[in-house]
Amino acid sequence: MASTALSMRQRRMVQALWRFGPQSRIQLHTQLGLRPNTVGADADRLVRLGILRESDGVVRGRGRPARPLRIDDRRRQVVGLALRRQRIEVARLSLTGQLVGQILGQEVAEPRDMVGVGAACLRACVDRNTLAVGISTPGFVESEAQRIVFSAIWPAHGPIPVQELYRASGARPVVLENDMHALAAQWLLSQRCEPREDALLVYIDDGQLGSALLVGGRPNRGCITGANELGHTRLPVATEGCYCGQTGCIERIVSSAFAGGGRPGLTLAQRLARGGDPKVDEIVGHLGMVLANAVNFTRVQQLVLAGPLGALPALAEPLTRLVRRLVLPTLAERITMDAWGQSVAAPGIVAGWLALTQILIDSWE
Ligand SMILES: [Zn+2]
Repeated sequence: MASTALSMRQRRMVQALWRFGPQSRIQLHTQLGLRPNTVGADADRLVRLGILRESDGVVRGRGRPARPLRIDDRRRQVVGLALRRQRIEVARLSLTGQLVGQILGQEVAEPRDMVGVGAACLRACVDRNTLAVGISTPGFVESEAQRIVFSAIWPAHGPIPVQELYRASGARPVVLENDMHALAAQWLLSQRCEPREDALLVYIDDGQLGSALLVGGRPNRGCITGANELGHTRLPVATEGCYCGQTGCIERIVSSAFAGGGRPGLTLAQRLARGGDPKVDEIVGHLGMVLANAVNFTRVQQLVLAGPLGALPALAEPLTRLVRRLVLPTLAERITMDAWGQSVAAPGIVAGWLALTQILIDSWE
């Protein structure tokens, strides 16, 4: 296989086409401040590699008609592998993030089989057209050491070596990340902008709250790569026990169990849909407090609410109103808050977006 490694300049060209859509060589020359011959040579290589293609239509201007270049969504792909609790998912994405073929899902009853089954799935999906591989997992990872340090997929186990997954990917770049970082990669790329601003992405589901902090387009790395553990922010509130060993965690509060006072009944989603539920108001109050504290602490420009409950207007609207009221007034004027509706893709697809960071986001690593 010929090398598909791209120079920084070639990546900038692909990234410009990602952000601004199809452009002619002349437009790229003007926009990137590169010599026309350099643009021509780089573009030819990218077309040969199957990363760019010529658009079907032509642009007429001065000189001879030009065919704009665009990212090739037909020839090359990336592969995403999501490790979940007792389940593995693999998806193939085009270089524009579209699912190619079917998602391959497999139940894995025994945690110790996880890596072997994942490697077999990768060997089945990775082929000569695969440019990069993204691997997502809950918990903490060390990608240089090619291992998962701790994860809910295998809680009783110490570090899990994943070299076998790297070997199954061949010589391609592999990105191993926490699954919240994978979601953050998808969000960042869906914005199609220069990642200048800092953002706090909060994923909210029933009894599950994850977050990722992006600083200048790069996930906050900290002392170990993992999600920002906002879900285990504790409040002096009686809840059922959390798997972290404590009680009062915000992710135990944002749950059907808390909303129902431990009795079976309506789910939190049903209570949100019905409206006028005092227990929901209480949950929004606690969650608003936690998010406002997080915004004060990080001073991000953007707060993004994601996930099956987070993106629901019935939760997102009262929540963002409350957060704006609770944060420091100077920050309230400056922050934008959005619910991200497209934040519930299958985990294998989300892992595929991690692989796309290799080509589309220079700041990621
Ligand atoms: Zn907890």
